[in-house]
Amino acid sequence: MSSSEIEKVECLIIGSGPAGYTAAIYAARADLKPVVYTGMQMGGQLTTTTEVDNFPGYPKGVTGPVMMEDLQHQAERFGTDVRFGIIEKVDFQQYPLQATTDSGKVIVADTVIISTGATARWLGLESEKKYNGHGVSACATCDGFFFRGMDVAVVGGGDTACEEAAYLAKLCKKVYLIVRRDELRASKAMQHRVMNTPNIEILWNSLPEEVTGDNKVVTGVRLKNAKTGDYKEIEVQGFFVAIGHTPNTDIFKGQIDLDEQGYIKTVPGSTRTNVAGVFAAGDVQDHVFRQAVTAAGTGCMAAIEAERWLGEKNS
Ligand code: NDP
Repeated sequence: MSSSEIEKVECLIIGSGPAGYTAAIYAARADLKPVVYTGMQMGGQLTTTTEVDNFPGYPKGVTGPVMMEDLQHQAERFGTDVRFGIIEKVDFQQYPLQATTDSGKVIVADTVIISTGATARWLGLESEKKYNGHGVSACATCDGFFFRGMDVAVVGGGDTACEEAAYLAKLCKKVYLIVRRDELRASKAMQHRVMNTPNIEILWNSLPEEVTGDNKVVTGVRLKNAKTGDYKEIEVQGFFVAIGHTPNTDIFKGQIDLDEQGYIKTVPGSTRTNVAGVFAAGDVQDHVFRQAVTAAGTGCMAAIEAERWLGEKNS
């Protein structure tokens, strides 16, 4: 390997959601000259949401994409090097820590902050795959526009599903919210919102068995009642899946301790992992709160801990 393919950095941040950018703001201000590799979805999951009304500091609310641009610019203002690219491989068995980018460059880092977030889950139906992009979607904000004036269904009972249903209700004629139990997991505020939206109909105890179509586009969904076992079909042109997330930790398997669901294990009350110099922040290590503000909070913690760890190591 030639030296031109190796770059030495003090702080490598992997991922560009609220955790990554907040870590970058703090690391840059602490003079760690952070380098952020954004991943494929620059700005993270919030770039696929609509209004964010619960992030402190935006009294009138803000859209996810605008908030993420604000965070990026704030990180860059203090000298963060934000690069659109992917870290494909890490080697934490040696120190300094190593990471390889999708262009083959090796980054040798004194500290690494992992903030790779989590990815939307799918039901796993053949028909869901078949019609993906032809009526099946996991992002109402991205694709809702195509279903204006039509009937659509959203699967899930959490905040994401309710938020997507409320968003789609503004664009579409009718929105079915398909819930597998007889209650919603979503916050009370979101529950009230969907229940008070006239063109949202909640289908309780309903399990999607098949997304039906004409081989080109979605025309409906076949549902099984979880209690009675009865089947029924609803006619919809759009089918939105909003059933939760999987942590983005594939490249860290075997390199760092993960829990049984694949989330990175951190020392309670800290962002420290079992590998010295590696810290984890945001949804990649949090399956409880999963909020932009908690992700940002742990991003801040990770940068402070990285700086202190490096200071102690060098002194
Ligand atoms: P959640 O894990 O909270 O909810 C997933 C939902 O999908 C549950 O209702 C679950 O049902 C259902 N589900 C899971 N698997 C299946 C399946 N195979 N078939 C049918 N239904 C299924 O995920 P969310 O993405 O909604 O939310 C994640 C986190 O992000 C939460 O903490 C949430 O509060 C937060 N969030 C906050 C927002 C905000 O504050 N603006 C917006 C969006 C999310 P069951 O309940 O039966 O398990």
